Amino acid sequence: MESATQPDATAAVAAGDASNGKGESPQSFEVRRPADGSVIRELPIDSPATVADAVARVRANQPAWEAIGFPGRRRWLESLRDWILANQDRIDSMMQEETGKVRADAALEAFYCLDAINFWCDQGPGFLADEIVSPHNPLLKAKRAKIVYRPFGVVGMISPWNFPVILSLGDAIPALLAGNAVVIKPSELTPLTLIELVRAWREEVGAPDVLAVVNGMAETGGALIDESDYLQFTGSERTGKVVMKRAAETLTPVSLELGGKDPMIVTRDADLERAVNATAWGGLLNAGQICISIERVYVEEPVYDEFVGKLTEKVKTLRQGADGDTYTAEIGAMTSPAQVEIVSGQVEDARSSGARVLTGGRRKDGPGDWYEPTVIADVDHSMQVMREETFGPVIPVMKVRDVEQAIELANDSPYGLGSSVFAGDPEEGERIARRIEAGHCNVNDVLINYNVLGLPMGGWKSSGIGVRHGAQGIRRFCHTEAVTIPRLPTAKSEPVWFPYSPRKRGIVRRIYRFLNARGLRNRLR
Ligand code: NAD
Repeated sequence: MESATQPDATAAVAAGDASNGKGESPQSFEVRRPADGSVIRELPIDSPATVADAVARVRANQPAWEAIGFPGRRRWLESLRDWILANQDRIDSMMQEETGKVRADAALEAFYCLDAINFWCDQGPGFLADEIVSPHNPLLKAKRAKIVYRPFGVVGMISPWNFPVILSLGDAIPALLAGNAVVIKPSELTPLTLIELVRAWREEVGAPDVLAVVNGMAETGGALIDESDYLQFTGSERTGKVVMKRAAETLTPVSLELGGKDPMIVTRDADLERAVNATAWGGLLNAGQICISIERVYVEEPVYDEFVGKLTEKVKTLRQGADGDTYTAEIGAMTSPAQVEIVSGQVEDARSSGARVLTGGRRKDGPGDWYEPTVIADVDHSMQVMREETFGPVIPVMKVRDVEQAIELANDSPYGLGSSVFAGDPEEGERIARRIEAGHCNVNDVLINYNVLGLPMGGWKSSGIGVRHGAQGIRRFCHTEAVTIPRLPTAKSEPVWFPYSPRKRGIVRRIYRFLNARGLRNRLR
C-alpha cells in the first residue's frame, strides 16, 4: 500500500521545503483512512497568497469581534458548544475515519472542547481582568497602575495529527475568547474534522468570520507564521525549531508545544495493580500517540518481575481493531505511516540490543497502519526506545536499583514534558515529583493533569516554550499593556521634568537617599 507521507518527504517538510522530496511542488494532497489506507478526500494546498487572503479577511473582522466584549464572544462559543453536543456522533465518526482511533479515543476530542469552552467562558473574565498594581515607591502613590490584557490581533496555529481537534480548536477557544481572530493550519494527515467544525462555526452557528482554516504542509505553515501576530505551534521538536527561526524574521512571539519522552517511576511499595493498569492506559491510549504518553517505565528491583509479568498479561488482553461506534476495541491504527516506521525501527533496535519483547513487537499484516501494542523488558539507555520519542504503542520497562537511580534516569533526557510516579505513600510520591525535570508530574495517576485546565501544561528543555491552560493559557494570546492614571488633579509640570537645576536635583537626590538608604542616620545624611 502506498503511504501518504514517507519519511523522506517528512524531512523535507520539516526543513521548510515545499517540494515533495522529488523537486516537484504538489498542488493538492490526499487524506487517507489509516485503518485501510484508502483515500477519503483530496484537498488543494493553500498557497502563501491564499494564506495572506485568509488572514486579511479575519483580521478585518477582528476589531468588531474584540468590540463585542467577553460576554458577546462567550455567547458564540457557547453556541458552538451546543452545536458540538448536537453533532457529536457525526464528529466522532469523522475523527475516527481520518485518524484510525478507536471510538473511545475519538470521542475524547469533543469531550475536551466541551469542557474547555465552559472552563474558559467561566474563568476567562477573571484571567483577563485588569490587574491593579500598587506602586512600590511612595512618590508614585498618586498613580493608579494596572496591567491591561489586549488581544494580539490574528493568532496563527499550526497543529499535529495525533489530536487534530484538541490541539487546534482546543487552543483556539481561549485565543478567540481573548478577542483574537484565529487561523489554523492543521496537519495535512488529519484536517477534515477541523474543517467541518470551522464550517459549522460560520454556516450553522452563524458566528462572525474570525476563525479560518488553511491547508497544506511546510510552505502553507511558513506563510501563516509570516502573516500572524502570534503563533502557537504544536508538533515535533524538529519542526518547532524551524518554526521559531521563521518567526524570528518578523519577531513574532511563539509558543511551542513539542515532543516528550515521559518517564514513570514505580517504587517497591506502590499499588502494583493500579500502577500496571495506569501504565497500560497511559502508554497505549490513542495507540501511544500522545505527547504525554508514558514512554519509559523505571521499576524498583524488588517488584520489577511482578510488574513486568502483570503488565504483559494486561496488554495481551487489549483488543486492537477498527471498532466503528461499538466501543469494542482499545487500540486503534496509527495515524501516520511515517510514525509506524519510527516505532518499528526503535523496537528492532531494542530487540537486537538484547531487550525482551514480551508481547506485540510487529506490524499487523494487511492494509492500513497498524502496530501491535508492545511491552519490552530489560531495556537500558543505550537503546533508542529509551532515548528518542517513540509516539506509538510501545512500553519499555527498565529495572532500577532504587528511587535515586530512577530519578537520575528519568532526568537523563533532552525532553521534559511530563512524568508520573507510583509510590505507596503519596507524600513520598510528591517528594519524588519535585525532583523530576518536567512540566508536570502525576502522583499515582497518569495524564490527568491535562484535564485540570487550571494547571499550566507545557514542557521544559526540548519539550517546548510556553504553556497552554491555566491563567497563562489565555494571557499568552494577549499583549500586556501597562497603564498609569493619576489619582489627583495634575500640575502643569513635575519636579523631575525639564528644566534641571542644581537646587531641584539636590532635592531629588535627598529624597531618593531618604527612600533607599537603610537606617535613619544614613537616610538623613
Ligand atoms: P510535525 O512537526 O511533523 O508537524 C506539525 C505541524 O507542522 C503540521 O501541521 C505540519 O504540516 C507543520 N509543518 C511541518 N513543517 C513545517 C514548516 N517548515 N513550517 C511550518 N509548519 C510546518 O509533528 P507531527 O508529526 O504532526 O506531530 C507529532 C509531534 O507533535 C510529536 O513530536 C509530539 O510529541 C508532538 N506533540 C506535542 C504536543 C504538546 O502539547 N507538547 C501535543 C501533541 C503532539
